[in-house]
Amino acid sequence: PKASVETPAASGKLVENVVIIGSGPAGYTAAIYAARANLKPVVFEGYQVGGVPGGQLMTTTEVENFPGFPDGITGPDLMDRMRRQAERWGAELFQEDVEHIDVRINPFTIQSSEREVKCHSVIFATGATAKRLRLPREDEFWSRGISACAICDGASPLFKGQVLAVVGGGDTATEEAIYLTKYARHVHLLVRRDQLRASKAMQDRVYNNPNITLHFNTEAVDVVSNTKGQMSGILTRRIDTGEESVLEAKGLFYGIGHSPNSQLLQGQVELDSSGYVLVEEGTAKTSVEGVFAAGDVQDHEWRQAVTAAGSGCIAALSVERYLVRND
Ligand code: FAD
Repeated sequence: PKASVETPAASGKLVENVVIIGSGPAGYTAAIYAARANLKPVVFEGYQVGGVPGGQLMTTTEVENFPGFPDGITGPDLMDRMRRQAERWGAELFQEDVEHIDVRINPFTIQSSEREVKCHSVIFATGATAKRLRLPREDEFWSRGISACAICDGASPLFKGQVLAVVGGGDTATEEAIYLTKYARHVHLLVRRDQLRASKAMQDRVYNNPNITLHFNTEAVDVVSNTKGQMSGILTRRIDTGEESVLEAKGLFYGIGHSPNSQLLQGQVELDSSGYVLVEEGTAKTSVEGVFAAGDVQDHEWRQAVTAAGSGCIAALSVERYLVRND
């Protein structure tokens, strides 16, 4: 394919160099790098997370671990800065969800409800969604007691020195529980089954940690609050007996996994058994030449803003090389 540089996506006639799908740290970082390389990237920002662009960090308050912000920064502020940086270098942003893509033939076709764009390369940065329990009071306490990320929130003043609970029985939940013992007074691990699914090594670490209490056959039913409206406990139910009781806890962490937003690519590029886009190790290359993936949609392990941004950078630099090679 021949790289085109001055191509207005709105015309729908010419072939774009690169389309970036997603507006989290991965998508915007890819957009910044691609724009600075004069590739005139077209970005479909989407609004699947909370109806706005910006991705998962739009749903949180303080981000304390993104380098360069010693006093922390709110998630929405951080994403607004990334967006403005991408725009400043000339990325063309569309607040639209991509509804269909076809990467079987190059030029590829990207379709939103508003337009169809042809392109030589795609960066897929659609992120992942933390699975939720959908407790009755979940929305009320999301980010005010309920969290899906121990690494992000464990050290926050809301949770430090408190009794906390983690839900789940796999590697994610056990890792979260162990991590939280660094800051919490005590951690309860609520496991629906009568055993852990986590690896043997993780199980041993949980069993040998005096600051973790395991509750098997137990599910969280809802959050309980005090008279000030703060979270004070978790209503739990024994699966085997149906007995309900309140467990005192100031925080509830979900460790029940994530779903990658990769439906658009199904049947077109290789995904793993959980739906994560498979990339060649250490690169952003998918199984289809010219299609690259970055951020949480291809990363079931680290899932951090900075790692997503780093992989967005790799994807954009890879696109640049790919277009030069194929020019
Ligand atoms: P995402 O941020 O998930 O963004 C994906 C984007 O793709 C979204 O904009 C979405 O609208 C878009 N999209 C999806 N489908 C389509 C489509 N069909 N068409 C167009 N666009 C589409 N990490 C940290 O490092 N520090 C923290 O403090 C921290 N706190 C967090 C707090 C919460 C509550 C959550 C949920 C996560 C937190 N994380 C934190 C994790 C961090 O947010 C993610 O690792 C990071 O956002 C992943 O970036 P991403 O670009 O891969 O995807």
